[in-house]
Amino acid sequence: MKLSTAIFQILLGPLALAGAVPKGESKITYGGYKAFRVATHNNPAAIKEKISKLSAVTYNIDNREHLDVAVPPQEIAAFEALKLEASVLHEDLGADIAKEGTVAAYEGVSAQAVPSLTWFNAYHAYADHVTFFSDLQAAFSNQSELVTAGTSFEGRTIFGIHLWGSGGKGSKPAVYYHGTVHAREWISTKVVEYIAYNLLTQYGTNTTVKAILDKYDFYILPVVNPDGFVYTQTTNRLWRKNRQTRSGQSCVGTDINRNWPYKWELTNGASTNACDETYKGLAAGDSPENKGLVAFTLGLKNSKGIKLFIDWHSYGQYILFPYGYDCSLKPANYALQSSLAAGTAARIKLSYGTSFTYGPSCSTLYATTGDSVDYLDSVGLAQYAWTIELRPTGSGTGGFVLPAAQILPTAIEQWEGQKYLLAAA
Ligand SMILES: [Zn+2]
Repeated sequence: MKLSTAIFQILLGPLALAGAVPKGESKITYGGYKAFRVATHNNPAAIKEKISKLSAVTYNIDNREHLDVAVPPQEIAAFEALKLEASVLHEDLGADIAKEGTVAAYEGVSAQAVPSLTWFNAYHAYADHVTFFSDLQAAFSNQSELVTAGTSFEGRTIFGIHLWGSGGKGSKPAVYYHGTVHAREWISTKVVEYIAYNLLTQYGTNTTVKAILDKYDFYILPVVNPDGFVYTQTTNRLWRKNRQTRSGQSCVGTDINRNWPYKWELTNGASTNACDETYKGLAAGDSPENKGLVAFTLGLKNSKGIKLFIDWHSYGQYILFPYGYDCSLKPANYALQSSLAAGTAARIKLSYGTSFTYGPSCSTLYATTGDSVDYLDSVGLAQYAWTIELRPTGSGTGGFVLPAAQILPTAIEQWEGQKYLLAAA
């Protein structure tokens, strides 16, 4: 760790370095849990009702065609007795989480050295992501700087990197990425890191990359839900929300992607129950993370504007554009967005044959309110505001966890997709 990293970690606060399981909570291993994909035939509520007596964990709550659930060992027989139309995603979820890789240590690099690509062979602890970005920035200090977008509920800084090309710092419209807003979606952080890494390391040698970075300033926030991310590593791999507590509520956590202050007040796109995975909070934009992200977003809007925003998620293999809050609405530039999404999906597929479905998020997946994409489109005035749901799709390929061996292929195919998109947009 270099001095700049040390200073940056002081900025992030003491909690950022804590790796221990929170007091009173033991780590959930999910040993013996069996995970299923249950067909819902467009009626997920009926399936949820049928399994409501079980303590099964549901995962992809945003999809109306199927519901992915992890069933504890003592309830597998009861689940199978329901005779639902289901396929197996994980025979033993705990074993697959273990296989996903013990989170690897990152030693850092000596001053101004470029971090190794081996970073993308494993998942890492939160503090190591901080170090990685600090190292990457130090190696390319003439065209990058570390940025911050406010502070999480538990006091961690929401950090990121700003990259620029020949026009100089802050001279071009923004390309703006968020990773790991949903705590368990680790692959999204790795993907935006890979894009940042390639923009910087290939700028001097690749004319396509140079043209992209000369045309846009990039703002890449790899972990916008740091408290949740740390919690997935200390305690519960499948945690989704932030770690915000609220007086009078026993359940922890607000869904940051249902708390953005745009169409937040509408019903049916989020939950008002604090115990639910899509809990929207008590007021629009009232989570500490959303406050920081809103301020950062408005800063970009008010400087050179936002060309492209992508909120990176997993899983399902979707490219989604506005709107989430109303299934009958399409963005004004719908034809253009569809054509760019089709082209991006086609380019992604060239690397490994991975297929992505695209379309407006509400009609393609499910209604969402207070989500980032609607906010970035309508308030942030981003020309393109997308959600990309990364690997896997689920069937036959797992779902809840993505093996470390798939980090690099997932990142490579998305880098190819972004190079197409940013040249064409
Ligand atoms: Zn997500």
